[in-house]
Amino acid sequence: MTPTVFVSHGSPALAVEPGPSRDFLQSLGARLGHPKAIVCISAHWETEEVCINLDPHPETIHDFHGFPAELYRMTYPAPGDPELGSRIARMIPGATTTQKRGFDHGVWSPLILMYPDTRIPVVEISVQPDKDAAHHYTVGQALAPLRDENILIMGSGSATHNLREMGRTGPHIAEFENWLCKAVEEGRADDLIHYEERAPFARRNHPTPEHLLPLFAPLGAAEGEPGEVLNRVFEYASLSMAAFVF
Ligand code: ZN
Repeated sequence: MTPTVFVSHGSPALAVEPGPSRDFLQSLGARLGHPKAIVCISAHWETEEVCINLDPHPETIHDFHGFPAELYRMTYPAPGDPELGSRIARMIPGATTTQKRGFDHGVWSPLILMYPDTRIPVVEISVQPDKDAAHHYTVGQALAPLRDENILIMGSGSATHNLREMGRTGPHIAEFENWLCKAVEEGRADDLIHYEERAPFARRNHPTPEHLLPLFAPLGAAEGEPGEVLNRVFEYASLSMAAFVF
């Protein structure tokens, strides 16, 4: 069965700046194998209801400001897969679709490192910040049958994400990251789903939930099985780059 994965995508500059997390993502594609298609839930596409991108040729969206010029010239011309996207829309109750939507950097900045040949079709799914972790877990569960077809279910967000604390360190960051990684390794899906009440300093590490919610789709698609924790590296002192493979 195809693994599922959550990646912390870090800063958009990751695609051009050398460092351990860039090296890690460059090696992650080989580790996960060559899927027939990728279904990616991204922190950078927020909607009220689940939305599936059916665009056959998504453009590359440069949805960030003040980064090196080189980044704005980068493209990720992987095709979409409207047929797979339509199937997914039927698998998730209440899902909506759009015909015209590009790849935000939650999708392309990790994928340009993981799968640089851009030949694997990618179907993007939105995140619902007004809905809870359990909802995103259910979305993942609905996607689980795709694992038998060599389709990679991926969440792209961040294990910690408090941009106001960039460059700062502190026990509240380490404690949260440690709790999260341990819960993943031990397969404590119920604790993870209730992270807001059970994890130390949850709100401080995720003042808004959209960067953690993509975790729950690959977790749900793996039925809450224990995951492997990779790349326990921090960028800008406080931004965890941890990745979880289930
Ligand atoms: Zn982000």
